[in-house]
Amino acid sequence: MDPALGPPDAMAEKRDELTPMMRQYHDLCARYDDALVLFQVGDFYETFCGAAERSARLLEIALTSREDSTGEYPMAGIPIDNAESYIEDLLEAGYRVAVADQVEEPGETSGVVERAVTRIVTPGTLTEDELLASDDNNFVAAIARGRGTDTRPADDELALALLDVSTGDFLATSSPSDEAIADEVSRFAPAEAVVGPDAPADVLPEECMVTPFDDRAFDRDSAGETVSGYFGDPDALLASDGEIRACGALLAYAEYARGGEHEGERGGGAERGDAADSPVAAGESEGDRLEYLTHLTRYDPREYLLLDAVALRSLELFEPRAVRGREDATLVGVLDETACALGGRKLRDWLRRPLLEPHRIEARHDAVEELTGSVQTREHCHELLRDVYDLERLIGRISRERANARDLRSLRDTLAVVPELRDQLADADCDRLIALRDELDPLADVRDLIDDAVVADPPIEITEGGIVAEDYDADLDDLRGTARDGKQWIDDLEARERERTGVDSLKVGYNSVHGYYIEVTNPNLDAVPENYQRRQTLKNSERFVTPELKEREDEIVGAEERADEREYELFCDVRRTVADEVERVQRLADALATLDALVSLATVAAQYDYCRPEILDREAADGGLEIAIEGGRHPVVERTQESFVPNGARLSPERRLAVITGPNMSGKSTYMRQVAQIALLAQVGSFVPARAARLTPVDRIFTRVGASDDIAGGRSTFMVEMDELATILRDADERSLVLLDEVGRGTSTADGLAIAQAITEHLHDEVGATTLFATHHHPLTELADDLSAAFTLHFAVDQTDGEVVFHHEIEPGAATGSYGVEVATAAGVPEAVVDRSRELVEPATPAETDAPTADAATTQYADGGELPADVAAELRALDVGHLTPVDALTELDRLQRLLEE
Ligand code: ADP
Ligand code: MG
Repeated sequence: MDPALGPPDAMAEKRDELTPMMRQYHDLCARYDDALVLFQVGDFYETFCGAAERSARLLEIALTSREDSTGEYPMAGIPIDNAESYIEDLLEAGYRVAVADQVEEPGETSGVVERAVTRIVTPGTLTEDELLASDDNNFVAAIARGRGTDTRPADDELALALLDVSTGDFLATSSPSDEAIADEVSRFAPAEAVVGPDAPADVLPEECMVTPFDDRAFDRDSAGETVSGYFGDPDALLASDGEIRACGALLAYAEYARGGEHEGERGGGAERGDAADSPVAAGESEGDRLEYLTHLTRYDPREYLLLDAVALRSLELFEPRAVRGREDATLVGVLDETACALGGRKLRDWLRRPLLEPHRIEARHDAVEELTGSVQTREHCHELLRDVYDLERLIGRISRERANARDLRSLRDTLAVVPELRDQLADADCDRLIALRDELDPLADVRDLIDDAVVADPPIEITEGGIVAEDYDADLDDLRGTARDGKQWIDDLEARERERTGVDSLKVGYNSVHGYYIEVTNPNLDAVPENYQRRQTLKNSERFVTPELKEREDEIVGAEERADEREYELFCDVRRTVADEVERVQRLADALATLDALVSLATVAAQYDYCRPEILDREAADGGLEIAIEGGRHPVVERTQESFVPNGARLSPERRLAVITGPNMSGKSTYMRQVAQIALLAQVGSFVPARAARLTPVDRIFTRVGASDDIAGGRSTFMVEMDELATILRDADERSLVLLDEVGRGTSTADGLAIAQAITEHLHDEVGATTLFATHHHPLTELADDLSAAFTLHFAVDQTDGEVVFHHEIEPGAATGSYGVEVATAAGVPEAVVDRSRELVEPATPAETDAPTADAATTQYADGGELPADVAAELRALDVGHLTPVDALTELDRLQRLLEE
């Protein structure tokens, strides 16, 4: 047990003797025992005992102590004003954080100030902008298994629910296969997963924080009730009991994390800029409900192009493959020209879930094509979208009563842009853009309300006035009038009293302790009138008040206080009225996001010369795949280097298995990935980096990179490789695109070849998947000649004076050798080493030597046979130093034949 969690032992022993405040701390720690409790004491959040020691070290804050009659307790505190950055560090260290705020004004009570946990911050339930990436979702997941019922007998499915608490995105899915759910988990990369009694832990990646949660929340009936409280009949909405259980539990967890006991604003500035000093009493708002969760989308993983964790990584969707690769060397980096956070998230969602249905794909292509055609529309839209705030998170804050007046103005500013965006789409032609234009609801009523109610540049504080505009509320205007008149009277007082007393040095002033006063210097004290009452004696003067001045002052202060209160009330009303429009705001946000994503795709298409792919009917290729690419490029590699050689691809049910050979560094991996990425981009709705492309939508992309090629990914064991291959052989079908990059390499040559060959045959004969197989096993090229739907491709290189020239050009047929040694030369390996390698490599077959290896240093075959004496003699006789590379190859070829005899 982590000493930073749970009630400190030192306190637990003598709980009943503790001071009331420390007892409060102890009890909160006991109640929230999986979280590190931050306990508000004035302007600080304090931690005690184990938690204090841990925080002090982790956050580099001072460790002090607090003493009471029962002992001395270590203590460490963080200033509330910048608590968020400390909380972030605690989250990063793997903690959940329970924030316990003072929920009473210290003056209001005679006893100890009441404190309550107002929110629980966990990696998956963040809503603080400061802690969230703006252009990506932050999901919390819940996993549960369904149970058979009469209506759904076959229901033993694993279900996954995903919620972004900051935006309100809420998804659910299920599958009979745990692996399929694991794939969905890696697609959405949740930061945290809530698990119930029966969740298999192995579908969650290591990075994901696992939060065991109340079993009762996962109970079928109570979960059903929770769901129906938000979205209506769960049975109509969701497809399995597992989904209901996962969704219900997730909602319960989100409510719990929001801090269930006290609603609305609390003192202490738990969220910066929102430090309400007049807390809304518990129970005044609508319970624990998260009002902005307005939609739950149930989807079937099979509606989207399936990408598992390995494919996501190897196709560089979101993370660069190379460990020290450039941050933006990813598909999303290449495609993201979005102008606002909404669009950034939408684009990521599209990439995460490429489509399958041709008409849905083409609807996006139509829009991209139209936007590509008009530079003006595109650029204007982009400019306007830059002024769009993150409406999803904004309305979430508004709905959670966490928004300040500036947030409302931000909403208003965004709404102001909407009519202009509609104008840009006035002449839209394609259905998607026409529909988008209609969805761009300017919410004029909301905008007018904010315009009328909230001043243009309001302060961050919402309880100290200065927020509500003139003429919005008669009562408020009256109060302000009273205060203004009173101040005017005081402003005039000085002149009046100077005249009355004849004392020219008489002054009217104000200080926070005594309020308004009239100051008269000592030499003039004789002139002080009857009704002056002495308040304060200074060295050279006396300060007075008059009953009338006091009365005026009370009036001003009273009016101002009431005005502040009235403003706060009015502000809360406006905020609630706006919150009631949450669904309209969310729909608008979605339209803005979609437009931004489409404009981004069009911008990239125009700027980087992408073409519109033709999407073939799913039945067109006999249930198989047709992929025809002319002049295709790798979208990421082409951006990172000066010139890129385009290559085509022709795959169809009759030619669906390509064995690709060629020396190291000739472009095999790049080529295979670019084919897959082009297919993926097309299904995202993007144009593609090619001269022309025609494709059937692909159902699944599998990629496997041989162990030796993926050490960076930390998956370097042969076992893992075989395990992944097994999945492909089991799950792939004729609508899958399979990339095999140097698989079967992590074992001895003979085994590796045998495995590679067996895989090839199986994929060809049984699975029927469209396969690109880059291999150093040259015998595979011969195998390809025997398989009816297989063919060979290779990357040729030229050599001049022992130096290799890469053309990066794909050609039909098999490569003649591997040129490992030459590549070493090109890479700058010292000449002596290269020469020695050349000596060593010559006896071996070209197929088995990609690079100089220790195996080649013996005259033994890799498979253990002895080198026959005659071949050895011939080899020794060769004058390597004077052979041209081509001669060497011919010679090697001859020797190889000799061996085989
Ligand atoms: P292989 O898998 O055959 O070893 P890679 O595909 O990893 O080779 O390519 C090696 C390098 O060659 C790439 O990092 C890239 O810089 C370059 N390259 C690959 N294909 C091309 C191409 N079509 N045009 C230009 N450069 C390329
Ligand atoms: Mg490679």
